[in-house]
Amino acid sequence: MRQAGMNMGRVKQQNRSAILNYICEVGPVSRKDIASDMGLTPAAVTQITTQLLEEGILVEQGTDQTHDGAGRRKVFLDIDDTYQYVYAVNIEAEITTVALCDLRGNLVEKQTMYTDHAKAPEHFLEDIANSLLEMGRRAPAKIERRIAAVTVGIPGLVDVETGVSIHAYGVWEEVVEVSDLLHKQLGLPVFIENNVDAFARAEVLYGIGRKHDNFLLIKWGPGVGSTIVIDKQIYIGRHGKTAELGHLIMERHGEFCNCGRRGCLETMVSYGALQKIQKFAPEKFGEVYTKSKGADREKFDDVIDMFARAIVNATTILAPDRIVLSGNLFRSEEIRKQMIEDCFEYDPNLHAGRILYTELSSCEDYIGPVAAYVQQVLF
Ligand SMILES: [Zn+2]
Repeated sequence: MRQAGMNMGRVKQQNRSAILNYICEVGPVSRKDIASDMGLTPAAVTQITTQLLEEGILVEQGTDQTHDGAGRRKVFLDIDDTYQYVYAVNIEAEITTVALCDLRGNLVEKQTMYTDHAKAPEHFLEDIANSLLEMGRRAPAKIERRIAAVTVGIPGLVDVETGVSIHAYGVWEEVVEVSDLLHKQLGLPVFIENNVDAFARAEVLYGIGRKHDNFLLIKWGPGVGSTIVIDKQIYIGRHGKTAELGHLIMERHGEFCNCGRRGCLETMVSYGALQKIQKFAPEKFGEVYTKSKGADREKFDDVIDMFARAIVNATTILAPDRIVLSGNLFRSEEIRKQMIEDCFEYDPNLHAGRILYTELSSCEDYIGPVAAYVQQVLF
């Protein structure tokens, strides 16, 4: 009994978190349905949801048309997306996106800037902070008051606990104290996460993860990123490492990769590698591929085929329910079609609906950090 008593606080915290995740996934939903679907007592649900309503993170929604059996107005609960607003920053090798949005990723404002490799990291972060401050000033007062945090997605190895970017491949060579630097400028709590992990959280909360618990997320452009999601949780191995599809070794005596090894998939299929075949903007890949002829077409086909082989091999090992494609090089339908065809050529047993395109392509460049904040901090 003593054990149970000691754990009560933690159990309540876990139930709170589970209820919030559940409402985010299926809401609006009644208290009764929360209790029966989650196997919780109605009393526990009422206690937790009352507190969440008082905090303002939940709102009641009810209509006069909907009544329960006893003739009472039926009340549904949902997340109040405007409970807080966040500054979302997504740093990528080429482009950095800065946005101000609510908890569902509804934009107040968004801007993009070139990721300035010539600038010292602290100066680049200062530029980001200044853009955010201006955005906050332009926002209506009722929104500005609710800006609760800065949340940042960064490529490569990230120490979530200390807010430090350990090695942002293709962005910074050195260790960068991202959270400290941004906190000094903005005076708000700062949270950071690997950009692909953060986007996988967005899939869990707002995308394909609502229907599928286990999936492999693949991001193409500018490099190759991937994250494994198991039972709706991001799989993170020891030393903070996640799945690294881009660093599967595909070629003997291959080119040196920025991870320190050689012959990695990424050295052959990254945006930089594709630019050596033909110059194009990432979103034009489909058009350029379709029009390409002769040797160029063969090179593009080799790239897509090699990527398909890596996907099929990863699928063999990981056995995910679904493979989710994202990133600006997958934006073209022609490319996705060719990639899936190549995968089927290697494995005719891969069933057609198993490889999907993200449902979040319209907000791909900033939704990850938002979801990371919502799932890691708020829930
Ligand atoms: Zn590598």
